[in-house]
Amino acid sequence: PEYLSKNIQNICCIGAGYVGGPTCAVIAYKCPDIQVNVVDLSQERINAWNSDNIPIYEPGLSEIVMERRGKNLHFSTKIDECIEKADIIFISVNTPTKTYGVGLGRAPDLTYVESAARTISKVAKTSKIIVEKSTVPVKAAESIINMLKSNQKPDVEFQVLSNPEFLAEGTAISDLLNPDRILIGGEDTDKGQWAIEQLSKVYQHWVDRSIIITTNTWSSELSKLAANAMLAQRISSINSISAICESSGADIQHVSKAIGADSRIGSKFLQASVGFGGSCFQKDINNLIYLCENLNLKEVADYWSQVILINDYQKKRFVNKIIKSLFNTCTNKKIAIFGFAFKKNTGDTRESASIHICKYLLDEGANLNILDPKVDYDQMMFELSNPQLNLPIDVIKNKVQLFSDDVIEACRNSHALVVCTEWDNFKSYDYEKIYEVMQKPAHIFDGRLILDHERLMSYGFHVEAIGKRLNH
Ligand code: NAD
Repeated sequence: PEYLSKNIQNICCIGAGYVGGPTCAVIAYKCPDIQVNVVDLSQERINAWNSDNIPIYEPGLSEIVMERRGKNLHFSTKIDECIEKADIIFISVNTPTKTYGVGLGRAPDLTYVESAARTISKVAKTSKIIVEKSTVPVKAAESIINMLKSNQKPDVEFQVLSNPEFLAEGTAISDLLNPDRILIGGEDTDKGQWAIEQLSKVYQHWVDRSIIITTNTWSSELSKLAANAMLAQRISSINSISAICESSGADIQHVSKAIGADSRIGSKFLQASVGFGGSCFQKDINNLIYLCENLNLKEVADYWSQVILINDYQKKRFVNKIIKSLFNTCTNKKIAIFGFAFKKNTGDTRESASIHICKYLLDEGANLNILDPKVDYDQMMFELSNPQLNLPIDVIKNKVQLFSDDVIEACRNSHALVVCTEWDNFKSYDYEKIYEVMQKPAHIFDGRLILDHERLMSYGFHVEAIGKRLNH
């Protein structure tokens, strides 16, 4: 049949965000014979993708976009038109956590996935492969299929695949170019298997068939939630050990090295820190907990809840350490916050640990000078004025300043500097000079273990670091 003999020539991606943008840029770069249209409801975001100042900072992304844009990579708000032309449609819309609802687990809000599926069902006049790229709860594909069927025209067929994205922000382009694996889940029918093969062929333009894992749809959906839950769990595990280090005199960096040398454990993701952030880990664990509750698996839900609990505890523990060192009061003391993004090499601030550190310090009456090379003022204001933080707007306006690179001005007259993000350039600052412009005693709180603590102490700083008891 015509449907089964189709060759993939045109891809449409709904959602021009942190996943849709970089993923499609790489597909366009590696598949010059495929036309790739990235569409979004937000005209502002699309305008930015079509400008010299693309909306997302990722090392290597801008170069690829500039090379393919206008050739086989297009950004537009013409959603209906691009859906109709496509053989494959990626759904890469946001799936935030609901801020309301009953129960302990926080359900994912599938409004945007549903509206994307609704649009496809209304607009599509020819058969399509629909790919879930967004992270969704298990069985979301079933809802998408039901939605699509409700409007299905005669002779139009939809195959829905799950193809979760495993890229990490900050290394998105290299992750997309050299993925550990590609996971594709589909229906266990001839048509389902055919659709899986079609999507595999796209990836095989640059990845080896041997790393493409194919499963049924539900295994694929669950694997994404489980992968993020296990990554976050590793961070909470090492952070829980960091608390023991600070109380006992053990050194978390030595402990991490000793643990990681065991090949069964491995050394990655064992860096203690002020806690994980970002738009995914907490959301996806909440999603998993919600799923467990719905399946009556209370003990399993309780197990994963601890990962979030330890993460919150780590941030509070760190702030308490700061307050205690500053003679138990931060009122009107200036504190320099190094980093507002949730990790290095990204401008993304969603759910960053730094936001929570800033919130707790503002509650204590501190004045903050935030230093981040990739975050702009509006974005910082947007995050700090989130109603959930409950910070009065005049407090934010009067007590917070943002600096992009002037570290001396950011630190002038401050009592403490607090490292919240592991940006590489924070390592090479002239800390002797910084010490001179700070109030004395001058404190450093290293929440990312990136600084040379011995050297800082030799300049006169009082240094505290996650997972260490430093001898002053
Ligand atoms: P994002 O908020 O950056 O982008 C989503 C975009 O979708 C927005 O620009 C929004 O305007 C658009 N959109 C929403 N509904 C739409 C509709 N009906 N039609 C057209 N456009 C619509 O989100 P993101 O960070 O790219 O994440 C997308 C999904 O991928 C989420 O489910 C997330 O969990 C998952 N994911 C994210 C990452 C990451 O590192 N950010 C990694 C892997 C997976």
